[in-house]
Amino acid sequence: MSNERQEQALIGLDGLVAEGVLAKEQAPSLRAIEARYAVRMPRGIAQRIKQGGAIGAMLAKQYVPSLAEGYQDKDEEDDPTYDEAYSPVKGVVHRYPDRVLLKPLAVCPVYCRFCFRRARIGPKEPMLSPDDLQQAYAYIRSHKEIFDVILTGGDPLMLGLRRLEEIITSLSSIEHIGVIRVHSRVLMAEPARMTDGMMAVFSACAKPLYLVVHCNHPAEVTQEVRVACQRVRRTGVIVLGQSVLLKGINDDPTTLVQLWRGMVAAGIKPYALHHLDRAPGTAHFRVGLKRGLALVEQARAGLSGLCVPPFMVEIPRGGGKVALQVSNYRQDKDAWWLQDAQGDWHAYVDSCGDSCGES
Ligand code: SF4
Repeated sequence: MSNERQEQALIGLDGLVAEGVLAKEQAPSLRAIEARYAVRMPRGIAQRIKQGGAIGAMLAKQYVPSLAEGYQDKDEEDDPTYDEAYSPVKGVVHRYPDRVLLKPLAVCPVYCRFCFRRARIGPKEPMLSPDDLQQAYAYIRSHKEIFDVILTGGDPLMLGLRRLEEIITSLSSIEHIGVIRVHSRVLMAEPARMTDGMMAVFSACAKPLYLVVHCNHPAEVTQEVRVACQRVRRTGVIVLGQSVLLKGINDDPTTLVQLWRGMVAAGIKPYALHHLDRAPGTAHFRVGLKRGLALVEQARAGLSGLCVPPFMVEIPRGGGKVALQVSNYRQDKDAWWLQDAQGDWHAYVDSCGDSCGES
């Protein structure tokens, strides 16, 4: 069965009722939410939710629809990252000169209730046709400044393997492309999909391939995930991880420390912690910037640099991403002052002087 056909095996609202995740009486009021934002997940995740406990509750918050999604905050937008404004051809987003997004499909293995593309993804959305893909390749080929292609969607690992291979091969044959990234939730949500066939596609990629997995809680890094991750790394693929700061899921320093250490121990380098984008119906997941920064600083104090990703915020109305940080340095007349992980300040004499390095 192809991955595309496996998508049909995911369960929706009715399946969640059948699995006992939702009571029958809850379903009618959630139909309007399901009609607007896709609801689907692997049966295995629904069963873990049904088992309850802290892990079940964490998974339920991420994947089970709630009535809170019916509330739209005043600054929330269907396209909070302004993908459409930066889309020169169908399926391509070219916001930064050296990189493009390529979105071949809009299907995912799970539909995160906080997703920034939630208004534009789901099984009813069309995928790129062969002609659309040819136009996308032509655009990328004609823009020699593009170094990095990010396959996203939806989730590119939900493509059939032949189509995934065709896309990766076509992109890696473009001379000026230096690296291909695949942004995916599959490794975390359904590691069984990381089959030998998929590993063969990864191994065959002629350019460096980075798999950027999405993981928000340490309990998502299961034994199956660790084993699948090891198989991926053996193909030569470099595995990075991105997370979203989410109220009620990971908004405390202990959970963040466990999350990032758990990822590193599984061979996943934490690459970014994202402040939640202002997608519609997601206000109940939002952590304020001030608190977000404080949480990151608290977590960072006890971690090695390997475990700490930058805290990324999307500037509204298409301004792009910026890494936010508490300033840990200042300069007086004669000295620099650097702040250590405990918050204490230390003088640093820059013997090189202000003119060092200037021509
Ligand atoms: S897997 Fe990614 S694209 Fe799909 S719903 Fe979750 S966050 Fe959105």
